[in-house]
Amino acid sequence: MFDTSKRMEALPFSGIRVMMERANRMQKEGQDVIHMEIGRPDFDTPEVIKKAAYESLEKGHVFYTSNYGTPELRAAIAEKLTKENGVAYAPEEILVTIGVGEGTYASIAAFLNPGEEVLVPNPVWLNYIHVPEFFDVKPVTYSLKEENDYQIDMDELESKTTSKTKMLVINSPGNPTGTVQSLETLQKLADFAKKHDLIVVSDEIYEKLVYGGVRHVSIASLPGMKERTITLNGFSKCYSMTGWRLGYAAAPVEFIQGLVRVHQYVNTCASSFVQDAGVVALKEAEPDVQIMVKEYERRRDYAVKALNEMDGISCKMPEGAFYIFVNIKSLGKTSAEVADYLLDHAKVATVPGSAFGTEGEGYIRLSYACSYERIVEAMARMKEAFKELKA
Ligand code: PMP
Repeated sequence: MFDTSKRMEALPFSGIRVMMERANRMQKEGQDVIHMEIGRPDFDTPEVIKKAAYESLEKGHVFYTSNYGTPELRAAIAEKLTKENGVAYAPEEILVTIGVGEGTYASIAAFLNPGEEVLVPNPVWLNYIHVPEFFDVKPVTYSLKEENDYQIDMDELESKTTSKTKMLVINSPGNPTGTVQSLETLQKLADFAKKHDLIVVSDEIYEKLVYGGVRHVSIASLPGMKERTITLNGFSKCYSMTGWRLGYAAAPVEFIQGLVRVHQYVNTCASSFVQDAGVVALKEAEPDVQIMVKEYERRRDYAVKALNEMDGISCKMPEGAFYIFVNIKSLGKTSAEVADYLLDHAKVATVPGSAFGTEGEGYIRLSYACSYERIVEAMARMKEAFKELKA
């Protein structure tokens, strides 16, 4: 066997995957497991989008596209951002990526040197920790605390900033807490980024999944922010297209030119017919998205109420994404122990909060991207399991 690289050895398997694999194994053995661990919508991709992909293939769109993406998709994304997000982008300011996963990787690779620092939330989607580490860049975490409604604490952010800090990552609506950062927080973040001359990477993948009249605001739309912001977004969550692998970065041309240099040596381009389907998603699938959003909201409302009625646990009402971050501190067990217990005793798969960083300890993450009926069943099982745990 060949030796592995030190760089690779430092990359752990994700805690989410570990739970998912255990849950899948149990299911294969015939156990009735309810999957609330996965951050993957349970809906089929809207028919209009699938049809666009079939038609594209039939038309013979099977070749490489420009590294940047097709002109049609770049134009459609620029138009969407201008209209929906209030930031005027030209097609040249868009790079089509293989999901936000690639956008994250390219942003770190293209703009940070070894030893430099990037401010990232804690808890967080762990790519924002491990991708910087892969490039010997230091992820410096700032806390999202329940007692602060998971809003970013500007004093803490300020205290974590050094002369090496070059980038700030924000994610709203956020994984794993489901929090939408308020306009007031975003305005403070904008002032902070300008004061310290930081690049802002804004992961807005859950932007359309907001509930109860809450509005998503892109930080790039605030005065003086487009110039320093890389907005990452994609089709995985809002259009239920996780397997299609399509996303984009929007930023001034100088940023795009940096990102594309990384992208060209990893992916060349996103799939041709997937890009054609992406155009149709943006232009025609909004009614389908709204149906999904309504259903997520119904599930969220049910689950949050049911969880808060259970003994010994509690949760805030998340305003976005499809996650509930449940406080299990009073149970006197670690989040990994509680997640294991729920899987063994209730056959409900969740993710320990510790899988998202140190601030996640004391919490478990539930995803309500599974059917309403399964959520009702999961809540009943969890209620019993927690009762037994307390007894
Ligand atoms: N960003 C966040 C915050 C996420 O939670 C996820 C998926 N769990 C991604 C990005 C990945 O997105 P994509 O499928 O577009 O790579």
